Amino acid sequence: MGIIVENVSKQFGSFKAVDSVSLEIGSGSLVALLGPSGSGKSTLLRLIAGLELPDSGKILLTGKDATYQSVQERNIGFLFQHYALFKHMTVRKNIAFGLEIRKAPKAKIKARVEELLELVQLSGLGDRYPSQLSGGQRQRVALARALAPEPKVLLLDEPFSALDARVRKDLRAWLRKLHDEVHVTTVFVTHDQEEAMEVSDEIVVMNKGRVEQIGTPAEIYDRPATAFVMSFIGPVNVLPSSSNIFQSNGFDSAHPEMFLRPQDIIVETSPNGTTVAARVSRLIHLGWEIQAELTLDDGQVVTAHLTRDRFDELNLQPQQRVYVKPKDAKSFPLYFSI
Ligand code: ADP
Ligand code: MG
Repeated sequence: MGIIVENVSKQFGSFKAVDSVSLEIGSGSLVALLGPSGSGKSTLLRLIAGLELPDSGKILLTGKDATYQSVQERNIGFLFQHYALFKHMTVRKNIAFGLEIRKAPKAKIKARVEELLELVQLSGLGDRYPSQLSGGQRQRVALARALAPEPKVLLLDEPFSALDARVRKDLRAWLRKLHDEVHVTTVFVTHDQEEAMEVSDEIVVMNKGRVEQIGTPAEIYDRPATAFVMSFIGPVNVLPSSSNIFQSNGFDSAHPEMFLRPQDIIVETSPNGTTVAARVSRLIHLGWEIQAELTLDDGQVVTAHLTRDRFDELNLQPQQRVYVKPKDAKSFPLYFSI
């Protein structure tokens, strides 16, 4: 077993940053903690690391109670958004640092550093100083440094969020590949749902210090447990259940609001019995996808996402009259606004 968090709470003054959180992270898996800013992700990560002490609850690492273990005893590797490298040390020295303070034999350190340089694809840059590297390369050095002492657990707190979009995307793919080679139990904090979906085996969705849902990216997307998860994990239209778009389609919900993904709206140019009339109020071209803002006859505005092919087939024009119906829609007993 990897990491078990049992009913852990952490309060700062009267504010509950982490509120009765329980979760299990399987040995060797890569799990994302996903949630908006302030939802308690970093605090939970710091609790797992031993940088914070919980007010109540337990943390087990590889089956042993680690709640009161020191950071050192836990044998954890970290990487934070700005995990500054030692500026006056070369890449090699930076990676070797954790092994040198543990007084590992010189030959072993040398071999391990070369192995890691290769693993993070920086062979040949070992003698450079951090200032001679790009942001993405620096984070890879920082990751090699974290991995050097062979930690049981690797904790990454928004490690790529300071980098620009392209580098961030490359590093995500790279991290996934690296994890498939190394298999160290990894917890990855992000507020970016796409990043969480792309990188992780499982996602823990957090909101206001609590866990909203735990599941694979597909489970979270296809079967969101709460309104919050549905809204956070991708774009969504929230409409009153009384809107006429639901009437003839058997979506009569017991709850006041319905959640409808933009790609789950069927758009036609002629009515077919179960469709309702709408007007194209705006078209946004995003290359492979077109976002169509549609105003229903009852005044509700919905956004539909169409593929380029479908858009061309329909030959949609601004102000055009169209006929729409939902392919799928969900409702939830409790509505938590974000
Ligand atoms: P996230 O990483 O999801 O953005 P954090 O875990 O950093 O969220 O913070 C959760 C909440 O706890 C925030 O409102 C933050 O201001 C508060 N918080 C975090 N650490 C401290 C602290 N040391 N003292 C007081 N409040 C804190
Ligand atoms: Mg944080």
